[in-house]
Amino acid sequence: MTSANTINNGSCLCGAIRYTLNGKPMTTVLCHCKNCKKSSGSSFQANLFFKQDQLTFLSGEDTLRKYQDHDTNSCGAPLRMFCSVCGSNVITTNEQSDFVRGNVIVMSGCLEGVTSFEPELEFYCKDKCGFVDVKTKTQKYEKMT
Ligand SMILES: [Zn+2]
Ligand SMILES: [Zn+2]
Repeated sequence: MTSANTINNGSCLCGAIRYTLNGKPMTTVLCHCKNCKKSSGSSFQANLFFKQDQLTFLSGEDTLRKYQDHDTNSCGAPLRMFCSVCGSNVITTNEQSDFVRGNVIVMSGCLEGVTSFEPELEFYCKDKCGFVDVKTKTQKYEKMT
């Protein structure tokens, strides 16, 4: 389990990019916007907002590639950064958004262990997949069925 009060470590899938996060996130957001879905290749994106100085790269920062997102109906132009080896989304910044400026959005799936950071906000619920409801009781399986 990750802890809200300690250092958390994260990495991309191949391990080239490794980082630490000092302290707990300022806020936690599930984003259902179209671009976060495309970018993650999944049904929504679970975003952790940290101050930029809470993030320290341990390795692989030069392996990051950047995609200047545009045409979002969301918050201007997020700069999405991913591993050029394995393709994991790692972080996003957005200097055009008052909400994001000065912060770094960390993709929660890259944290080591099971995150204890519960989502606080959900954005773009108008584009939310019908089956996504984190509060709904579902049949849960340890693995695939
Ligand atoms: Zn990688
Ligand atoms: Zn989004």
